[in-house]
Amino acid sequence: MEPENKHFKDRVVELSGENVDLCFQCGACSSGCPMTQEMDYLPSKIIRMVQLGLEEALESKTIWVCTTCFNCEVRCPRGIDVANVMEALRQLVLRRKYDRVSLDELSPEEIRELPQIAIVSNQRKLTA
Ligand code: SF4
Ligand code: SF4
Repeated sequence: MEPENKHFKDRVVELSGENVDLCFQCGACSSGCPMTQEMDYLPSKIIRMVQLGLEEALESKTIWVCTTCFNCEVRCPRGIDVANVMEALRQLVLRRKYDRVSLDELSPEEIRELPQIAIVSNQRKLTA
C-alpha cells in the first residue's frame, strides 16, 4: 500500500536509519515501554503511523514523552530501534522552529520550583 505522505515516511527513514517496514505490529515495544501511561499513541502505533506516512505522528505527545531508554530496541524481534524513530520525529518538529516551551512564558515561581534538569531537558528536546 502506498503511504499517504511518502515524503514524510522517507524523511523519517532517512533521519532515523530505521526500516520501519520491517515492523509487523507485534507490540513488544509497547508492552515493554515504561512511559505508555503518559503517551497518546503507543510506540508500536507511532511506527505504524510512519509506515502509513501519517504526518499526525509529528503532533503526538508520545515522541516527547519517550525517554530514549531503549527497552523497545532490545525487545523488537525485527531489530527496529524505535527510539531512533522517535528522535527523527522530534528532529522534524524542531526543524519547523516551533517552540513547545518558552522560558519567557514560565513564571518566576515555576522557574524557581521546576527541577533544573527538567528545564534543561525541555530546552534541548522541546524547543527549536
Ligand atoms: S525508548 Fe521510548 S518508546 Fe522505547 S521503551 Fe523507552 S520510552 Fe518507550
Ligand atoms: S517490537 Fe518491533 S516489530 Fe514489534 S511492534 Fe514494535 S517496532 Fe514493530
